[in-house]
Amino acid sequence: MRLARIIFMLIMPFFMTACAGSAYQLPKVDHAEMMLVENEIKADEKPLKVYKRSSAHYKNRVAKIAKRLQKSAKSLCDISEYNPCNFEVNYSNEDTVNAYAHENNKITVFKGFLQYLKNDEEMAALIGHEMGHHLANHNEEQLQNAQTGAAVSGIVTALLIGAANANNPYYNSYQQQQDQQALEDMMVAGFELGKMSYSKEQEKEADLLAAYLLRHARYDLKKAQNLMYVMSKIDADEVPGKAALLSSHPPSSARVVAWEKTIDEIKSNETKLPYLKNQN
Ligand SMILES: [Zn+2]
Repeated sequence: MRLARIIFMLIMPFFMTACAGSAYQLPKVDHAEMMLVENEIKADEKPLKVYKRSSAHYKNRVAKIAKRLQKSAKSLCDISEYNPCNFEVNYSNEDTVNAYAHENNKITVFKGFLQYLKNDEEMAALIGHEMGHHLANHNEEQLQNAQTGAAVSGIVTALLIGAANANNPYYNSYQQQQDQQALEDMMVAGFELGKMSYSKEQEKEADLLAAYLLRHARYDLKKAQNLMYVMSKIDADEVPGKAALLSSHPPSSARVVAWEKTIDEIKSNETKLPYLKNQN
């Protein structure tokens, strides 16, 4: 059912974009601004620095940063209708280069990622980004994507099976059974694909909310921005264990520019809360 998979991969992004829109006004990033940052990143040939620290150190920093962000999150929880306003942030000693938001209010950050981060600000940006996914209810949207993925994939496969056998007088129960299995496999594949992808909009929204969270917790947003450069470097370099990261967090120069614009927005924004989409 290779054809079903290809068709599904082509049409799935349209369905996912349809169900995952941002609730907030996102910064507008134009192509020229993006290219400037992209060239800057390319010109930087320094290898990514790896900080050698103990697991006890990371565990301690993650707990302190999570507590500080949590303490200042109330107004953002209110505007996002995230209730109860509570996050459970866990540290994992594994080398995988990843961090993710999962099940209700949980977040896991991995040593494999933290070892590339210089200071508390960068770590706060990473944890704040995952909190942003929770605040904006992205996991719920992701589940809807997964269900849509399973359904769309199942329909495409069933149509193809039907078309392939419409005029086949020798279509027997054994083939039927095989096709049934193929259909189920494709639905599982569709579910997994839908589940693993946050849309670009969702990533931008998580960044936006992270910037506001960090501002409320009095972190230096300029220092925190370096997280984006680190992610771009991880993307460009041959970093072991990065695959998991890239599947969920597409790093890009657009995010660097968007972060800068959000810093400016926060400075001039009296409420210090992100603008809702239907707000002027
Ligand atoms: Zn993300």
